[in-house]
Amino acid sequence: MTGPRIAVLRLGHRKGRDPRITTHLALVARAFGADEFYLAGDEDVEMFATLSAVGERFGAPLKMAYVKSPLAFIKRWTQRDAGDGEAGTAAHLTMYGERFREAIPTLPRNRPLLVVVGGTKVPAEVFEYCQFNIAIGNQPHSEVAALALFLDEWGGNIDITERFKGGRLEIVPSKDGKVVIDHDDDL
Ligand code: SAM
Repeated sequence: MTGPRIAVLRLGHRKGRDPRITTHLALVARAFGADEFYLAGDEDVEMFATLSAVGERFGAPLKMAYVKSPLAFIKRWTQRDAGDGEAGTAAHLTMYGERFREAIPTLPRNRPLLVVVGGTKVPAEVFEYCQFNIAIGNQPHSEVAALALFLDEWGGNIDITERFKGGRLEIVPSKDGKVVIDHDDDL
């Protein structure tokens, strides 16, 4: 079973303080099945370079872009064009939202999905423009944990191992050590 295209939008990135947590957010996005990663707040070319290097080594590179006006981006995605000329779905992760295990089965699976993750202060319009506000528990915690649990629940029946085929490095699951195939050695 495959699913729709998934994009993650990170709001309010602060270049001096957030590179590590935002990088982890993007790594979780890629590892758990997202195709695209959008960054709002401060631009961060170095962080994009780090993330590109992961895609080059392990496959399934994320499409990444900086978004100057995140509210306009969400509005366009949900009301006009999610990148293919038709409107898509947006789900905002917030501790104030609906319970995720009940909400996720109600999300449409026939349109691209934008998962919106907050930063320090989330503007009220984000709650309004996203069709879904979803809580991973109703307590404050981490955007990285919230995204991981959301994508795991969303992708329960979706096999994402295929998407990593073609990477230079392939990790072979092992119970007693690191087993890594370097496909450049095949050449
Ligand atoms: N104080 C901020 C605000 O004004 O909303 C929230 C800061 S929180 C560390 C950063 C982001 O983590 C949130 O915007 C949200 O996307 C995510 N997050 C934290 N706890 C969450 C939860 N229980 N459920 C869903 N998302 C959560």
